[in-house]
Amino acid sequence: MNAMPEFDTPDLRAMQADLHTLASIESPSGDPVAVQRVMDVVEGWARDLGAETHALGGGTRIFRFGVQPDAAEPADRPVLVLTHADTVWPHGTLDHMPLRVDGDRLYGPGTYDMKAGIVGLFHALRALNGQWPRGGVTVLLSPDEEIGSPSSREHIERAAHDARVALVVEPPVADTHALKTGRKGTGSYTLTFTGVASHAGNRPEDGASAITAAAQATLDLQALAQPDLGTTVSVGLIRGGSAVNVIPAHATLEIDLRVSTLAEAERVDAAVRAWTPYDPRVTIRIDGGLNRPPFEQSAGTLALFEQARAVAQDLGFDLTHAIVGGGSDGNFTAPIIPTLDGLGAPGDGAHAQHEHVRLDRWPDHVRLLTRLLREVWIRTPMEWAAKTVQSERMRLVELPCRAGEKRVPDVELATRRLSGLSTKQTESV
Ligand SMILES: [Zn+2]
Repeated sequence: MNAMPEFDTPDLRAMQADLHTLASIESPSGDPVAVQRVMDVVEGWARDLGAETHALGGGTRIFRFGVQPDAAEPADRPVLVLTHADTVWPHGTLDHMPLRVDGDRLYGPGTYDMKAGIVGLFHALRALNGQWPRGGVTVLLSPDEEIGSPSSREHIERAAHDARVALVVEPPVADTHALKTGRKGTGSYTLTFTGVASHAGNRPEDGASAITAAAQATLDLQALAQPDLGTTVSVGLIRGGSAVNVIPAHATLEIDLRVSTLAEAERVDAAVRAWTPYDPRVTIRIDGGLNRPPFEQSAGTLALFEQARAVAQDLGFDLTHAIVGGGSDGNFTAPIIPTLDGLGAPGDGAHAQHEHVRLDRWPDHVRLLTRLLREVWIRTPMEWAAKTVQSERMRLVELPCRAGEKRVPDVELATRRLSGLSTKQTESV
């Protein structure tokens, strides 16, 4: 017999109605007032469930359910759930991409990424009937995830330091049941070249071509890519020159960087900053850097995934996992606490015309989230082992130690404790 309470089957019609409410409010990242309108609706749902609500600087909101302030024991810290209210879609998108249901699919801008994730989360919270997990639940609603979370990042990192695990309700991998256990880090650079203009026919030797320098930089910097290590470097934009018969004095190029590890980020960053034009008369200015650190797949995250997989099996479906290229706010929490991403609504078409949620699969994922919220890491040895592993990278755990002695966490021991868990290779998608 199952020791856990049984939860009601999610009410798909009510979920659809709530999704319609949120997705009908267009909320591009660049319009904070519109984004706050979505947040007002969500905050109403949070208050109905008895949350303590907070508006933070920059537009981020936090809702706390059964959270004890300043919990001393790590196990008494809350589960942090990350959500965002903004979308990539500009105002007016609904005019040519209206919300519509076609068979098992609900189409519309911002549905899959991630208003359905927010709706599913609140249906899962409601199903808990006030029985919050140990430590409670903190829900963080970001206003600017789609543009790299410039205003919410510090709130996310602070909330992660106060939490024991993070669950991210971004959608699962497109058209699958795959959760996300790792994400690449992302970076971008703008390189501005200033050369010397001159007549291209009469006095070419007096000129110093900014375009030539940009072209050389393109080849040299793209050669920094290490696909085997997950590092990609791509010059996606290049502009320059003033007229065809003038040696160009100006050029700019923009670089997209993706990395799987912080070590790779540091290697590429150092090489970009060290690059100098072959022609000393050309000067260079470098702007940009790493936007989001890599979400490296950790033992803690894999332990969390194994728990989710066991719950899904119990619910009658198979769950897989993958490392993906795109970033999320999970990239900010993963270096601090075990983070499991992709717990939103299944579907496809993020940032694309065919964006949709799979209505036939959605209730299963809400049941999964409900059970995960209720049961997350009841088994303390697993939590202990995983926390020890993650602390090696970010901070020292609160272990008893002699005065003046620097505590070095026993990562090997922690890994052995986790050895009963699967560490199989991830499926790539
Ligand atoms: Zn998203």
